[in-house]
Amino acid sequence: MSLTITDECINCDVCEPECPNQAISMGETIYVIAPDRCTECVGHFDEPQCVQVCPVSCIPVDPANIESRDSLWAKFNRLQAQAQQAQAQHAQAQAAAAARVEPALVGSPAEGPK
Ligand code: SF4
Ligand code: SF4
Repeated sequence: MSLTITDECINCDVCEPECPNQAISMGETIYVIAPDRCTECVGHFDEPQCVQVCPVSCIPVDPANIESRDSLWAKFNRLQAQAQQAQAQHAQAQAAAAARVEPALVGSPAEGPK
């Protein structure tokens, strides 16, 4: 299951950086949890980190998004695969950018003493 934030949220900003899945963001008026990114912290921690830190206890289970533990693990694995793919693409882009810069450096040697 994923969790949800109720309208008792006081926008204290504490939970957002604690989420290992970047599932929490500021909504129109209060913070919100993206159900497709919340694993209830399965794969990262024993307890939901947002629930641990919320000072007003306004993060219950979302009755509209009840999931089995297997489903949460599958979501965790999907998010990990996405993150690895993004890292690989970033590394490829950096390597391509470096390859474009190097010939320019080779083509303009510094002048030595005469
Ligand atoms: S339970 Fe965990 S994964 Fe879900 S929103 Fe809270 S901190 Fe993020
Ligand atoms: S920790 Fe609780 S009160 Fe603070 S922003 Fe998150 S949901 Fe809202």
